Amino acid sequence: MTTLKRVDVHVEGVVQGVGFRPFVHSLARRLGLAGRVHNDVDGVHIEVEGALAGVEEFLTALERDAPALSEIERVTVVSARPTGHSGFTIAAGIPSGPLRPLVRADGATCDDCLSELADPADRRHGYPFINCANCGPRFTIVRGVPYDRPLTTMAGFGMCQACAAEYHDPGNRRHRAQPTCCPDCGPRLRLRDARGTELCGDPIAGAVTLLRAGRVVAVKGLGGFHLAVPAADERAAALLRGRKHREEQPFAVMAADLAQARRLCEIDEHAAGLLTGRARPIVLLPRLPGAPVAASVAPATRSLGLMLPYTALHHLLLAELAEPMVLTGGNVSGEPIAYEDDDALTRLSGIADAFLIHDRPIHVRADDSVVRPMAGEVTVLRRARGYAPEPLAMRWPAPRPVLACGAELRSTFCLAEGRRAFVSQHIGNLENHETLRSFVESIDHFCGLFGIRPEVVAHDLHPGYLSTRHAMEIHGAELLGVQHHHAHIASCLADNGDPGPVLGVALDGLGHGPDGTLWGGEFLRADLTSFERLGHLAQVPMPGGSAAVRQPWRMTAAYLGDDHPGLDVARRNPWADALRLAPDSPLTSSAARLFDAVAALLGIRDKITYAGQAVIELEQHADPAERGTYEARITLGDLLVLQGADLVRAAAADLAAGTCTRAIAGRFHNGLADAVTRACDALRQATGLTSVALSGGMFQNALLLEGTVTRLRAAGFRVLKHVRVPPGDGGVSLGQAAVAAARDRA
Ligand SMILES: [Zn+2]
Ligand SMILES: [Zn+2]
Repeated sequence: MTTLKRVDVHVEGVVQGVGFRPFVHSLARRLGLAGRVHNDVDGVHIEVEGALAGVEEFLTALERDAPALSEIERVTVVSARPTGHSGFTIAAGIPSGPLRPLVRADGATCDDCLSELADPADRRHGYPFINCANCGPRFTIVRGVPYDRPLTTMAGFGMCQACAAEYHDPGNRRHRAQPTCCPDCGPRLRLRDARGTELCGDPIAGAVTLLRAGRVVAVKGLGGFHLAVPAADERAAALLRGRKHREEQPFAVMAADLAQARRLCEIDEHAAGLLTGRARPIVLLPRLPGAPVAASVAPATRSLGLMLPYTALHHLLLAELAEPMVLTGGNVSGEPIAYEDDDALTRLSGIADAFLIHDRPIHVRADDSVVRPMAGEVTVLRRARGYAPEPLAMRWPAPRPVLACGAELRSTFCLAEGRRAFVSQHIGNLENHETLRSFVESIDHFCGLFGIRPEVVAHDLHPGYLSTRHAMEIHGAELLGVQHHHAHIASCLADNGDPGPVLGVALDGLGHGPDGTLWGGEFLRADLTSFERLGHLAQVPMPGGSAAVRQPWRMTAAYLGDDHPGLDVARRNPWADALRLAPDSPLTSSAARLFDAVAALLGIRDKITYAGQAVIELEQHADPAERGTYEARITLGDLLVLQGADLVRAAAADLAAGTCTRAIAGRFHNGLADAVTRACDALRQATGLTSVALSGGMFQNALLLEGTVTRLRAAGFRVLKHVRVPPGDGGVSLGQAAVAAARDRA
């Protein structure tokens, strides 16, 4: 008979939010040990028992095989009396205690609250603002710290006796749940018409009647206003699109539950987990053929941004509507979403026919987050509601507190202190005044919430970015410029807890190059402190400068010149004018402009109405099953140069030969993935580096990412890609912060 051994293990360090408990769980199960693991105020607590040898192996493996992003500072082991129980469980965490009560991200309504919502005997039956300590609004209602009711937007709602009793009872699920409330004491729902006049009757039933009649209803959510119409109603979807100024960006759709969602999209177990998780992001999924979704909801794309309800209000609304609804940002195209009542009533008055509104103010704007399952994992494309402001664990500490100001489009900022990086919610394009104001105010808000006073301020090298200008205006801190594509690769390194050096492949729109040209298709040797440019896509002119960004056909002209007579794209546009402009236009090695050239060539998009449109639509147009490819020459001199023009010419030749454009788009993606792999192979021989980090907005493209990852792995590379922060410019702030911290440590 084997003697049983039991130990209590306390692990301190960066061990929360890094997959530590699942790791412990699978380790214990593998070794046949019993016990449990849970988070506590300053780390992870484990009770484990079993055969002596198994427990010893457990303690060794605990440190040796810990998840990459964890950082164990101390392990304390105390012997305990065996209990003889079997099975190993992950126990619910003890909510962060008094040590560091970080403000958490907003969380989707939990199952316990949902049962109460549906229970006619419960005092919160049908109450749209039900929440508890495990769910509900957090970040979006917090005005300041300490996180306590008076410093939230619930301050104006005095708790009734019943709510107060629950709040003060340590055994209750609502113990110290700051936003707790009920129909007697909490916020109220109202339905108003476009002029702001309150409509009588049940607000939810009234809203659903309007939705069924094809009207647009503005709905106040957690982080801002949405605009809703039934997803299958083409007339209503087209009306909404028209009122939002005919933008073509796809709308997201909310389904009542997984069963309803499965009628719209292909949903595997992994996607189901993303849809039903606490963060409740929009998940980009393959749309089912014949899915009951109106054509105007997501034109020119085969995927659909799908989410499930994350507030009780959503649950009630969808239960009453009994079909999926479009839920898109409450804004006019190009502006940030409205989150304040008066502002929403003004700005959305020409768009919404009615407002489903309530009196709990939103303090912080937070868009819906967007994630995409790619290459067998998930990549966050827009990190906002449900994720921010949860800190990202950093493998190495920042010696001095850092503020990183990010880029310009899809901007975020990042505050780093010690081993924690607080990346802000997606703030948006810093080109309008409203967004810039929100950027500056959010920085102050974060500094206050987390008690951080930045001593180092990192920024992009582009002098014209408003984020750079903001950095320049901060006094009393050391400034550090970080090159855009170095920041991208550093962001990928930080995302993976890897110090480098690596071969960094940064494919994106445009970034300021130190040589005065516009970079965007870069091969770097990079670690966290420095980088060296090893190669790039061959430069081409951008005829007319920024006009070429808005008009992809100009890039087709730049790539093909006048040796391809008879092209439709040349006939449709003032081709000769573009060619005349080309010699005096800025040069770029941008990968996005290469995609633009092919998209316009294939007749997918001559002009765009939102950033990245041609790139997104080219991917959506491509046949993912296409195996053909194009070959791009690679030349080696001082720098490696990849001839993107070869891909465009091959596509033009196929087009002239009558090849289907879906096949051409597929071959183009394959050709670029092949060329990137061959370029990395050449650079491996020159540098000895065997790891590749992929970053930049082009890697939000699943076809390109999966094609490149597969080929690189087959060629023997170790591949790092993004998981927790976007590959696009939304991730740049984390990279800047990682570089600033690394230089500070050096
Ligand atoms: Zn709850
Ligand atoms: Zn109450």
